[in-house]
Amino acid sequence: MQSFSSKKKVIEQKKMTLLERLYLPAIFQGLGITLKHFFKKKTTINYPEQKRSVAAAFRGLHVLKRDEKGAERCTACGLCAVACPAEAITMEAGERRAGEEHLYREEKYAIKYEINMLRCIFCGFCEDACPKDAIYLETTFAPANYDRNDFIYGKDRLVEGFKRDEIVPPVVRTLEEANL
Ligand code: SF4
Ligand code: SF4
Repeated sequence: MQSFSSKKKVIEQKKMTLLERLYLPAIFQGLGITLKHFFKKKTTINYPEQKRSVAAAFRGLHVLKRDEKGAERCTACGLCAVACPAEAITMEAGERRAGEEHLYREEKYAIKYEINMLRCIFCGFCEDACPKDAIYLETTFAPANYDRNDFIYGKDRLVEGFKRDEIVPPVVRTLEEANL
């Protein structure tokens, strides 16, 4: 047989003493350890009622930020998606229309912006790549879910203070522009 290492350890099977064969001392020793932990400070917490404080450098869920006037900062440049090693970000860019200046800071904005949280490794590269200070990873955790589709976060869950009537879905917009 091929040997991959020169290290070896000879294990001797010692004969058990009568006390060891009774197992009782080992059982009481184990119970003693359990009892000792009853009076120690608990290392577990009752999540989600209680939450641990996280380090300042912690990277949790993403937030798409607004500017000081409340308009979305993201200009759908796609740099975050290019920087993402997990290919978790997808987006669709759209042109801002007259009267939407209060909604979108730049002439181009993300009609659709999605992050697949099952792919995301929370590396923060998207945050570093963004030239508009639009995306930040904050300290909240992605909640558990039974449905995989629910881990695809759209603008409704990413944009800071999102209100549903802010988004004109692209289909509606196309129909409007075609005067249908
Ligand atoms: S944190 Fe990293 S993996 Fe997650 S979306 Fe941003 S760049 Fe991609
Ligand atoms: S979040 Fe930043 S990097 Fe990503 S598309 Fe928007 S502006 Fe560009």
